Amino acid sequence: MTGNEQRITPGLVGIPTEVDVVVVGLGITGAGVALDAATRGLSVLAVDAHDLAFGTSRWSSKLVHGGLRYLAQGQFAIAHESAVERGILMDVTAPHLVRPLPMLTPVNDAMPRSRTALTWAGLHGGDVLRRTARTSARTLPRPRRLNATEALNLAPALRAETLRGGYLAWDGQLEDDARLVTTVARTAASYGAHVRTRARATSATGTAVELRDGLTGEVHAVRTGAVVNATGVWAGDLDDQVRLRPSRGTHLVLRGSALPETRVAVMVPIPGSRARFAMVLPQPDGTIYVGLTDEPVTGPVPDVPTPSDAEVDFLLEVVATAFTTPPTRDDVVGAFAGLRPLLEVAGTDESSDLSRRHAILTSRTGVTTVVGGKLTTYRRMAEDALDAVVATTGLLALPCRTATLPLLGAAPREDLRRSTAPTRLVRRFGTDADLVLTTAREVTGLRDDELLAPVSEDVPVTLAELVFAVTHEGAYDVDDLLDRRTRVGLVPADREVAEPLARRALELVAGTVSARPTDQ
Ligand SMILES: Cc1cc2nc3c(=O)[nH]c(=O)nc-3n(C[C@H](O)[C@H](O)[C@H](O)COP(=O)(O)OP(=O)(O)OC[C@H]3O[C@@H](n4cnc5c(N)ncnc54)[C@H](O)[C@@H]3O)c2cc1C
Repeated sequence: MTGNEQRITPGLVGIPTEVDVVVVGLGITGAGVALDAATRGLSVLAVDAHDLAFGTSRWSSKLVHGGLRYLAQGQFAIAHESAVERGILMDVTAPHLVRPLPMLTPVNDAMPRSRTALTWAGLHGGDVLRRTARTSARTLPRPRRLNATEALNLAPALRAETLRGGYLAWDGQLEDDARLVTTVARTAASYGAHVRTRARATSATGTAVELRDGLTGEVHAVRTGAVVNATGVWAGDLDDQVRLRPSRGTHLVLRGSALPETRVAVMVPIPGSRARFAMVLPQPDGTIYVGLTDEPVTGPVPDVPTPSDAEVDFLLEVVATAFTTPPTRDDVVGAFAGLRPLLEVAGTDESSDLSRRHAILTSRTGVTTVVGGKLTTYRRMAEDALDAVVATTGLLALPCRTATLPLLGAAPREDLRRSTAPTRLVRRFGTDADLVLTTAREVTGLRDDELLAPVSEDVPVTLAELVFAVTHEGAYDVDDLLDRRTRVGLVPADREVAEPLARRALELVAGTVSARPTDQ
């Protein structure tokens, strides 16, 4: 295996002309499929028209769900699957990227007793799911009731005068959704998959794909044993039998100071509904997200969806019901929206919400589409997609092994806590934190204080991780660095401040590459 194959690279120079599997789309689904196929011993080419995590996968709530919502809808099998996959992510494959998140549902005078009873019963059901999925209470503690003082200790900004207490439950929270995608893609590359960005599939059948290099404009034909279409809300562009009706979900971004010392996620009941909540989600970088809406979208699918004013107002209004000094529009330093792929089955009038389930469809021409699901269940989606591919094509493949295969950088949380590497790098790269720093030192010749200095008080991003994103993670330009390898772009003002450092990282790496006598 050459060094290039182990790294994610932009463009199509040097790709093989024949592989076992071509994966189209490098959101979480495509990255997961690439990893599953590569670890079954298949040769893999995985491409994205733009960049890793360019689509829906970077606009999520960054939660690793246990399936409580499906339980409430009586969908036990999906709920169980979700809880099992959550446990795998938290305990085996990505303990470095998923942490236990305490979630507080405040109970106040305005909340009818029927609703509080339903909420508590639901949280208990969630705990049963945890146990049946064999996730320990050490990983995700049992839910418990809090009195008003305990609730206020965890979220002092809550309205104290009407607070009666609260329920505390636990779920998984990702360090960052795009980082999970990047880590899965890099792990796939480490098992030999060719992972390429800036590479659009312009047409596909089950045995051939035409790809356009976004950097050179060149067109490449690749022969293949199977094509997996993992293009999310764009799936219908590659297979006209797949019809989608997306719906938009919006989050707001606040500074931590807008709801001071909020140490837990807060589930704010949506007035007038029986079981819907808005979520206040503190993030590892110090910001707070508030989500989430559900708005049907018509017309062409945009590359980057935008939140509407009405969604921003709605979320602020709901949050205002729970906090003493509610955030206002001035506190909203960013907002982002993602599109859920809701599948419509061609040939029928039936439209069904499959965004939370996944579907595997094989087209007339032999393309296998995997769509729906969620970040939490990406591994199972990939396993099912590859099983379908193997069944329909007869490709010789090993059994799936991803349920026991740690992603790059994974280690038990206690080991990571003992690490002497810089905390931010450990949080985002696990045991690869040392590799990130060593690479940055070698490439730039700079001292650690410069490589590890945060961009500003509000922006913890470092030069070391930006350099590594270019050398190992296929980052090609400032957008890749600030909008996907890191998430500075979620706050436009912070993005402006970080841009010079991103440019510097690109220049530093370009300098060393052109200084080398020959590049491998
Ligand atoms: C608002 C919101 C919040 C959510 N929150 C959560 C959550 O907290 N937890 C959870 O588990 N799930 C969550 N989900 C669900 C989850 O985010 C999605 O199910 C998942 O990200 C979909 O990933 P994907 O890889 O299928 O699609 P995408 O991430 O959209 O990836 C598709 C990729 O295909 C590429 N592409 C498109 N056309 C082509 C082409 N012709 N050639 C090459 N590449 C192409 C695109 O550039 C894109 O990168 C949320 C979803 C939404 C909308």
